Amino acid sequence: MIDRRSALKLALSSAAAFATSPGFAQTAKPRTRIVFLGTKGGPRIGVGASNPANLVVVNDTPFVIDCGMGVSRQLVSAGVPIPSVKYIFISHHHSDHNLEYGNLFYNAWVAGLSTPIHSFGPNGIEAMTKTYWELNKFDVETRIADEGRPDPRPLLVAKDITEDGVVLQTPDVKVTAFRTPHPPIVDNFAYKFETPDGTVVFSSDTAYNPKLAEFAKGADVLVHECLYLPAVDRLVIKTKNGATLKKHLLESHTTTEDVGRIAAAADVKVLVMSHFVPGDDPLVTDDNWTEDVKKNYSGRIIVAKDLMELKLPV
Ligand SMILES: [Zn+2]
Ligand SMILES: [Zn+2]
Repeated sequence: MIDRRSALKLALSSAAAFATSPGFAQTAKPRTRIVFLGTKGGPRIGVGASNPANLVVVNDTPFVIDCGMGVSRQLVSAGVPIPSVKYIFISHHHSDHNLEYGNLFYNAWVAGLSTPIHSFGPNGIEAMTKTYWELNKFDVETRIADEGRPDPRPLLVAKDITEDGVVLQTPDVKVTAFRTPHPPIVDNFAYKFETPDGTVVFSSDTAYNPKLAEFAKGADVLVHECLYLPAVDRLVIKTKNGATLKKHLLESHTTTEDVGRIAAAADVKVLVMSHFVPGDDPLVTDDNWTEDVKKNYSGRIIVAKDLMELKLPV
C-alpha cells in the first residue's frame, strides 16, 4: 500500500523524468498544419481572395504548393518568414499557379535567404527558373556587387517532373505526384503529402477524374478545386468570350456535384473546397458551394478562406 504523499512524489518524479528524456523531446514536434494562402481560382486579381497557393508546414518546415499572384504577401500575413520556405511545388503552368514562382524565391533572397529552396513542377520549371535569372540579371547582379548579397542563382534548385511517383522523401514527409487531366494541359500534377500527422492530397486544377479518388484513397484531407455551375452561367453572360470560356471551364474543372463523388469514392475524412471558380461572385454563399457536394459525400466539408489553417491529425 502506498500513501497519498508518496504516490504524489512518485508521480512528480516520473513526470520530470519523462519531460527530460530524449524520447519526449522527439515526440514534442509541432503538429503538421495546412494554410490556405489563396483560394480564388483563375488569374484575375481582385480585392477579395488571393490567387491559388497553399502551404503545408511539417515539423516547422514550410512547403508551398502553387505560387499564384500574392503568395509572398500571403506567407507574410500567415506569419511564415519567406526565407524559411524549403520546398515549392507547382501543379501546372497556368499563370494563376506559377506567376509568382520566381518572385517568391526572389522575395526570400532579399529577406536573407541563405539555404537552398528546391522546386518541383511539370516540364518547364527548370527552363522557367533559368529564364527568370535572365529576366532579372541586372537587378540581381547589381545587388550582389553593390549590397554584398550571396548569388541567389545556385540557391534555387528546380526539377522537372515527367512522370507519376515519389518526387521527394525527407525524414518527415513523402511527396508523390499524380498526373490528372486539365485540358488542354497534360502536364498537370496532383500532390500527396504523407506526414507523421496524416495525409493530405491537393487535386490541382482537374477535370472530373475518378482515378484521382484512387490516388487520394483514405487520405485524411483532400483539398479539391471546384466549379459552381449557376455562377459560371452568370459569369459567361458578362464576358465577351463567354461561350469559349464556358466550354473551357466545363472541360477542365470539376463541378461541385462531382467533387462530392470524388471525396466519397476516396473516403477522405475531410474535404476542403478551394480554387473556387468563379472565385469572386458575391452571390455565391458557402452553402451554395457545399449543397451539391452533399448529394454524394457525407463527411466533413470545409469551404476554405484565405489564411484559414487546418491542423493535422484531423
Ligand atoms: Zn487554376
Ligand atoms: Zn489551371
